[in-house]
Amino acid sequence: MGHVTLVGAGPGDPGLLTVKGRQAIEEADVIVYDRLVGPEILALMPNHAEQIDVGKRSSHHPVPQSRINRILLEKAREGKKVVRLKGGDCFLFGRGGEELELLAEHGVEFDVIPGVTSALAAPAYAGIPVTHRDYTSSVHIITGHAKENGELRIDFDALVRHGGTLVFLMSVASTPAILDGLMQAGMRADMPAAMVERGTLPRQRKLIATVGTLAQRMKEERISSPAILIVGTVCALSDRFDWYDVLPLHGVTVVVTRPRQRAGTLTDRLRRLGADVISYPCIETQDIWPNMPVVEALASLEQYSWLVLTSPAGVDTLARLLDAAEMDARNLAHLKIAVIGMGTANKLRERGLRADYIPDVYDSVHLAEGLIRLVREEERILLLRAEIGTPELPALLTQACVSFDDVAIYRTVYRNERSEELADLLAQGMIDCVTFTSASTVYGFVKSLPEDTDLTKCIALCIGQTTQKAAQQAGMKTITAAHATIDAMIERLQAYCAAEDR
Ligand code: SAH
Repeated sequence: MGHVTLVGAGPGDPGLLTVKGRQAIEEADVIVYDRLVGPEILALMPNHAEQIDVGKRSSHHPVPQSRINRILLEKAREGKKVVRLKGGDCFLFGRGGEELELLAEHGVEFDVIPGVTSALAAPAYAGIPVTHRDYTSSVHIITGHAKENGELRIDFDALVRHGGTLVFLMSVASTPAILDGLMQAGMRADMPAAMVERGTLPRQRKLIATVGTLAQRMKEERISSPAILIVGTVCALSDRFDWYDVLPLHGVTVVVTRPRQRAGTLTDRLRRLGADVISYPCIETQDIWPNMPVVEALASLEQYSWLVLTSPAGVDTLARLLDAAEMDARNLAHLKIAVIGMGTANKLRERGLRADYIPDVYDSVHLAEGLIRLVREEERILLLRAEIGTPELPALLTQACVSFDDVAIYRTVYRNERSEELADLLAQGMIDCVTFTSASTVYGFVKSLPEDTDLTKCIALCIGQTTQKAAQQAGMKTITAAHATIDAMIERLQAYCAAEDR
């Protein structure tokens, strides 16, 4: 017999998934998920896991609850580890209880991993503390979902008498009726009220008004689901405690083209600064294996004095190649190691190796210049890098009569489908900039769009000169980092956004 875990996926910001929830997703055989679960969390699903989308609406009819309950039971009976992934918290208006009933009845083991609920997270991201000792000492979470006949099951008198902060979920359609109900029960019309749409997501919008004015404001601003309604004096604190809307990259949409394995830091840092990040990996690196030249080079490492690595991907590939040859870092002990930049150096340190040389400017020309200075006449370099690396490095070494072997250990594979969707976003001016961390990401990006895509409006944020040149050749406008680091790229973007007043 299998096992079912109910997991609350949080309100939208992928960082708000719990550690335990993430572990459960990564270990699942089957994942049954809802409409409100975001793409970044879905991307954590293991490839081999069966993925069942029960949030899809065929002609506006969601998958019936009884069908979902049966899927969970059937999959558990097949002996699978099933994760039932739900938006926010699984028990707060999440029907988690209903889903457990059938499982309990049939003796299926289950557990529950609570999630961060939108009822608390959306106010938090809007600068609204749901309780505050100077204002209110309770918070009530209420569904604004009406019965079939449109009638609300809300005891307005009790809510108004109690005086706590009120949070209404599923209330976009019923907000005018709720606000009326509150006023009829004696709530003052100037009581602060707020609406938070797409809370915790980069395109979050908030409206701060009063019980008397919010319905009209909502209509003007065309607020749509998912959104929550908050009523109470604490809503007045929203501007003072605003921290999310004022993040430096709030409202800025950035496309990250790095390969999936390498995108993490850039994507996370941009998100923490408030940017809306579209993850759009344009290249992937693949080890070249079997690989005779590498086997030969590794078998005769004693002929080399220097090892040169030009990317973090190269470090990972080297580790796999050594392992495949039943070797390890000790076999590199006699070699001095030169790398192109800090990213590669840090990757090496993770593997317990320190770089002996990193150029001041992280590009192949400066790396070549450094090597020409340092490598003695009788010494030989083993250069391990991409199949199609920049020609400058070997050309400069040859010119300076430095002896080396240039061995390809991985190749770059480009995305093979062309994305109409991204081309449309570009054409509509929805994308503020596209980040490029190598010339190959530029080629991959261009190749991934329909041939007639106009790239002249596209702002390319480039890590260095070589990348910039590639982006300019593709017709893009470029802004370039002062140094070839992720930090410097982010600084450049912030400066650009400040100057453009975005
Ligand atoms: N279990 C979920 C709630 C499910 S009911 C939770 O704990 O968050 C669905 C309602 O949740 C939506 O109608 C909306 O009112 C609210 N909601 C979910 N995600 C939201 C978000 N990101 N921003 C604002 N409201 C959200």
